[in-house]
Parts: sequence; C-alpha cells; structure tokens
Amino acid sequence: MDYEDDIEERARKLFAGPVEFLKSAPGLEFLPDGRAPEIAFAGRSNVGKSSLLNAITGRNKLARTSNTPGRTQELNFFDVGDPLTLRLVDMPGYGFAEAPKDMVKRWRFLVNDYLRGRAVLKRAIVLIDSRHGVKPVDREIMEMLDSAAVGYRLVLTKADKIKASELAAVRAATEAEARKHPAAFPELIATSSEKGMGIAEVRAAVLGDALS
Ligand code: GDP
Repeated sequence: MDYEDDIEERARKLFAGPVEFLKSAPGLEFLPDGRAPEIAFAGRSNVGKSSLLNAITGRNKLARTSNTPGRTQELNFFDVGDPLTLRLVDMPGYGFAEAPKDMVKRWRFLVNDYLRGRAVLKRAIVLIDSRHGVKPVDREIMEMLDSAAVGYRLVLTKADKIKASELAAVRAATEAEARKHPAAFPELIATSSEKGMGIAEVRAAVLGDALS
C-alpha cells in the first residue's frame, strides 16, 4: 500500500470515529488548551464551509451554517479521534456584503491573533467557490496567512454546480493565484459536499497536515 492509500484509509477511519464539538472562542482568552494539532477552515460566508465540514466528518449537523452576520465572530473547535488526534477549527466566515465596519475589524483582529499566536496551528484550508474563483476578500485572508507564515491549501467547493470545462478553467486560474502566494500549496482539491467528490482527499490532507 502506498502512502496516499494508507493515509486515506487512516483518515477515513479517524473521521468515522468520534468527532465532538469542543467550544466556541469569541476571543483569544477563550482558546482551548493546545493539546492537539489544529487545522483551520476559512472561507467567505456561503462558500460551503459548514457543508464541507459536515461531509468530512460524515455528520449532518456538526457545523451549523452561519449566514447571519453577528453570529459569526467565533472560532469553533472540534475534537477528532479518541485518543484525541487533531482539532478542526471552523473560522468565522467573511465577506458579508452588508457587514458593519466594526464587525469586519473584529474579524480581522480575531483571525490575525489566532493565526499569528497559535503554536499548534498546523495548516489552514481556504475554501473557494468554484463558481466565483478567488475574489478580493479571499485574497485578504490569503495575504494574512502569507504574512503569518501559516501554510494553506486552497479547496474548491460546489464543483457539481459547474460544467467540467468550467471547473478546469477555474482550477487553472486558482492554481495560478496560489503560485503568487508564498504560503499557499501549489495543488488544490476540487470538492462537492453534495456529491462526495474530493472529500476523501480533503480528509487525507487534513490528517497528513496534522501529523506533519
Ligand atoms: P457556509 O456559509 O460557508 O457554511 O456555507 P454552507 O455550507 O451553509 O452552504 C451554503 C449553501 O451552499 C447551502 O445552501 C448549501 O446547501 C450549498 N452548498 C454547499 N456545498 C455545496 C455543494 O457541494 N454543492 C451544491 N450544489 N451546493 C452546496
């Protein structure tokens, strides 16, 4: 068995086991202990982050969708594995059209503090909507990750919503964007939470990154 099959199988088993909500942290003083490596998920509101977290963990209601500005300024932590193997961190969504300025400011402080100060943060996953590609608000979080020197993967969501030819184009454009960012991985993963596409790969990437 080669490494990729092996890690996919280990990741499948891991996520089929216990996954528990640990806590919400509206500020750094509320962060949990740093007992386990963390993988943080970021993305614009409505990008499909909750759906992807639910698909990865095979649960329906683990991550709640958070389409109301105001309910979103928290980092949500989930324990994965018994014994505890890693933590998934659901970062607050960004890019609400009507978000008040002070909310955007709070988001920036919270996310920046977490990215810069968290020793156990191993990697981030930045979700990009296949229909839209990388937008300026996505570039902002990518630049925050670049300057905090947190490595990240770009993952396309909702790949089922576009044609194969369109997916190939957005994939190429997103990979070109990734090459401009020092902390971005060059390869990306295209997913559909609806169809189960790319989910095993994301699970394997999460486990591989957590163990690295
Ligand atoms: P979040 O705000 O980033 O957590 O996004 P959600 O997970 O709540 O998804 C936003 C909307 O997109 C919901 O209506 C989902 O049903 C839909 N959605 C999410 N993932 C997919 C997908 O892979 N395919 C399709 N067709 N729709 C999706």
